[in-house]
Amino acid sequence: MMPIDPRLPYDDNNVFARILRGELPCKKVHEDEFALAFHDINPQAPVHVLVIPKGRYVSWDDFTRLAAGEEIAGFMRSVGEVTRILELDQPGYRLLVNMGGHGHQEVPHLHLHIFGGRQFYHMVAD
Ligand code: 5GP
Repeated sequence: MMPIDPRLPYDDNNVFARILRGELPCKKVHEDEFALAFHDINPQAPVHVLVIPKGRYVSWDDFTRLAAGEEIAGFMRSVGEVTRILELDQPGYRLLVNMGGHGHQEVPHLHLHIFGGRQFYHMVAD
């Protein structure tokens, strides 16, 4: 897939918007007022979960410019909650957000990746 152009307006038909509306299924891990967490369809690690905000934000850039403080704090707290639900807090885990073209973001609704279940070494690999 091609990376998205993060300057485009929010697309209400993107795949994560459809998951949020319940139009497409997901393997849900957690849901609260601010976020939904579900397993990635194409896992890159033994545990690979995506956390998305409930609001209509294209990217990390969009979110950190436009979201209310309560939404940002709530989203961050949800990410922590999900790592504990997955019991990754003791062995540890890795968080990742891809943003725009160089980040190779493919879905135009902000999502944070949680990777776990094995030892990670190299920070960035191509
Ligand atoms: P990005 O490269 O945009 O940071 O990551 C997009 C992620 O979304 C990929 O890891 C991809 O496997 C995942 N993904 C794409 N479509 C779906 C879907 O329909 N359901 C789920 N659960 N994950 C998806």
